[in-house]
Amino acid sequence: MSLQILRIGLDVPLNRLFDYANDGFNAKVGARAVVSFSGRKLVGVIVEISDSSDVSRDKLKPVEHVFDDVVFDARMFKLLSFCANYYHYPLGQAMIAALPLRLRQIKPAVTRKSFIYSLTQVVDINDLPKRQLVLQRIVEVLQQGSATEAQLAAISGSWRKAIIKLKEMGCLQQEEVIAVKPSIKSSSAEPTLNQEQQAVIKSVLSEQSTFKPWLLYGITGSGKTEVYIQILKTMLAEKDAQALVLVPEINLTPQLEARFRSRLSEYPLATLHSNLTESERLQSWQAASSGDAKIVIGTRLSVFTAMPHLKIIMIDEEHDGSYKQQDGMRYHARDVAMMRAKQLSIPILMGSATPSLETWYLAKKQQYGLLRLKARAVDNAQLPKIHCIDIGKSPTENGLSPIFIKAMRERLSRGEQSLLFLNRRGYAPVMHCNACQWTAPCMRCSARLVVHLNQKRMKCHHCGHEQRIPIQCPDCGNPDLSPVGQATQRLEQTLASLFPEANIARVDRDSVRNKNALTALLSKVHDKTIDILVGTQMLAKGHDFPHLTLVGVIDTDTALFSPDFRASERLFSQLMQVSGRAGRAAIAGEVLIQTTFPQHDLFTALRAQDYEAYADTLLDERQAMQFPPTSYFAMLKAEASTYTHVLQFLNKAAQQAREISKDVMVYDPLRPQMERLKSMERGQLLLQAETRKDLQQLLRVWMPQLRAQKLANKLRWVLDIDPLEL
Ligand code: ADP
Ligand code: ZN
Ligand code: ZN
Repeated sequence: MSLQILRIGLDVPLNRLFDYANDGFNAKVGARAVVSFSGRKLVGVIVEISDSSDVSRDKLKPVEHVFDDVVFDARMFKLLSFCANYYHYPLGQAMIAALPLRLRQIKPAVTRKSFIYSLTQVVDINDLPKRQLVLQRIVEVLQQGSATEAQLAAISGSWRKAIIKLKEMGCLQQEEVIAVKPSIKSSSAEPTLNQEQQAVIKSVLSEQSTFKPWLLYGITGSGKTEVYIQILKTMLAEKDAQALVLVPEINLTPQLEARFRSRLSEYPLATLHSNLTESERLQSWQAASSGDAKIVIGTRLSVFTAMPHLKIIMIDEEHDGSYKQQDGMRYHARDVAMMRAKQLSIPILMGSATPSLETWYLAKKQQYGLLRLKARAVDNAQLPKIHCIDIGKSPTENGLSPIFIKAMRERLSRGEQSLLFLNRRGYAPVMHCNACQWTAPCMRCSARLVVHLNQKRMKCHHCGHEQRIPIQCPDCGNPDLSPVGQATQRLEQTLASLFPEANIARVDRDSVRNKNALTALLSKVHDKTIDILVGTQMLAKGHDFPHLTLVGVIDTDTALFSPDFRASERLFSQLMQVSGRAGRAAIAGEVLIQTTFPQHDLFTALRAQDYEAYADTLLDERQAMQFPPTSYFAMLKAEASTYTHVLQFLNKAAQQAREISKDVMVYDPLRPQMERLKSMERGQLLLQAETRKDLQQLLRVWMPQLRAQKLANKLRWVLDIDPLEL
């Protein structure tokens, strides 16, 4: 009898699969297997079952165990293989990274069922056996309402015995805890869709069962989310149908999840994001892959969730940079979703008020359907008026222009809210010596330390290094060091002294650490307990603030002149988004932007709220420079403790690339803006091609050459396909 060979993908940085002999396990493609690899036990995924191997029989090791559950079906393999090829990343590693942590462990994937218990009838403590104190305590707790296993276990280690006793008495009810939480139906009436919304929905539903990419370009508050909900209502009504909804950062958009839950309550919904426990994540994954969950809302990684009946993919805020993975396999979830939709012949709907130029370009070329929502959905809701405050002419005091302070004072007296947007957390970006101009550097990075005054510390926002604020200048001994520049904590302090009567809340990663904190804060904004909000981009995303009528943008001039070619695209979309927070209800909003360059094109377009005109200008520039989206980039990044090694490696790489292809432009190696990060000297090499095909052809020959370079082991290097930042 011939031996069964299992070809297995493992989490090792080698671009190949590994053969093992199967002795008696019932193996299926897509199941997980345990093998020994270089003396370690690893979990892998069976990619192929064969009866022959290139490895000689006596060298072939036996597989140690095979689990029953199939984690990937043929369609997921196809998607993962595409990714491994396109991003030039080992298939085994791509597969393992797509799995929830629990499935990467050498254990069967059982989520132990867990229950919530409650009493079905009143139990009199006096009727219970006298000496069973644990039972009595548990009954006391359950009399106040239902309790989870964790809550009961906190009472006593022998809680299970008590539960069994109560079951025997017939007065206990248990309900299984599931990740796919039952949703509560909304009591509020559904809005009547306006004509634009109806037209959009009709278009998408007219091509339900073919591959069709759509860009839904709709200004903030135009009712895009409402459109998603209505499309899902129709499409999910079909038997078994599932939908995948990608969102940038679920913690920042609690409102979206809540709206989906209340409006689509008939469809079990699972979420997948980094704020879940591993057990919850496994449950969500299993609910999705079994088909039980009809809607999966998740962040970029959830694009790899197995969903057997996937009928549509939606990407909210498709322009958001967080869809790009920045380590491991550097995929872009939007591009992977696009490929997935294509492979499955299903529609994909991407929504944004400021689409990425990549998407805009293809919509303009009619490769994507372009759907527009031009007006705000709520009756009478007007677009905010956007003005620039020329701080060259009217200087600021403590970072704030008197014009802006006056506008805030008016809002306070009318009981309306203001928001100050400053995309820099901490107290001040620099600690400075007035005598010798010294500024506090990070010892490990080419960056300055940010002052966090309330903790009396300085922190590097790039590597996490922190230290105490020195009592004197380390260079000249001057004791008179001062924080220079504005960041959110300082702004909050300034506002508190300007408006002592106002309630001020700061929203940034230091003050708001999780979804619950953000939800609590947002509800305070809603019931008007808060008058002034200060915050970073955390505030810009998707929140609906009906009483907010003033938005101030404090300092954007650094971003205006960033060397990154995507900086102005990002800034524009950020400012449009934060402007969109003002005047969502009946009161018109006002946006004031403090800048030294009020005449800049970006502000002209912003004042006119004309994304299209600005996008077209930027596209012309990109075309002229042959930058993406009119061309394709790949970037080789390398780092080592000495730059010479980096340069040698990159020079050789450049030479090799030039020899492989004449159709790809190979730039000279460069140091990135952040030359040193975490004590590593960094360099990069940019490749540019007119087509993805040209680029991929080169990469296929080039990658093995890079791996074979002698220096390759002495430094860390990665290839970033379609890099977002240069
Ligand atoms: P977007 O996702 O484009 O920012 P939303 O879907 O959140 O827009 O809609 C903005 C606001 O308008 C929400 O409060 C929503 O309930 C409301 N809304 C959406 N569509 C309509 C409609 N047709 N009629 C009235 N209100 C609507
Ligand atoms: Zn000094
Ligand atoms: Zn640092």
